[in-house]
Amino acid sequence: MHELALMTSLVNRVCEIAENENAKRVTNIHVKRGELSGVIPESLNFCFDVCVADTIAEKAAFHIHDVTAKWRCDSCGNIITKVEDLNIPICPKCQNYKLTLIEGREFQLDSIEVE
Ligand SMILES: [Zn+2]
Repeated sequence: MHELALMTSLVNRVCEIAENENAKRVTNIHVKRGELSGVIPESLNFCFDVCVADTIAEKAAFHIHDVTAKWRCDSCGNIITKVEDLNIPICPKCQNYKLTLIEGREFQLDSIEVE
């Protein structure tokens, strides 16, 4: 499962940070999930519980922050955040379909809280 691999490395990273800070435990973990990342929140939540078992992050609350996809039009420079079809984004200003994705594909650690 894709999410399990992502979550394993994420939790490893969290534990590393917490141990470097001499934390007793991790209380909150925040991640950013781009809407085009293909990562499914339900799977993340499930994998989270599996991955944090018996670690310093075992009791941590897990927060997923969705990042809306954002493109820049290669032709007119318009920044586009809403498209009719996520798979075939088209610039609403000039109807150009050559768009550069700026954000929305990421899945990354945002921040953690420890005590
Ligand atoms: Zn355009």
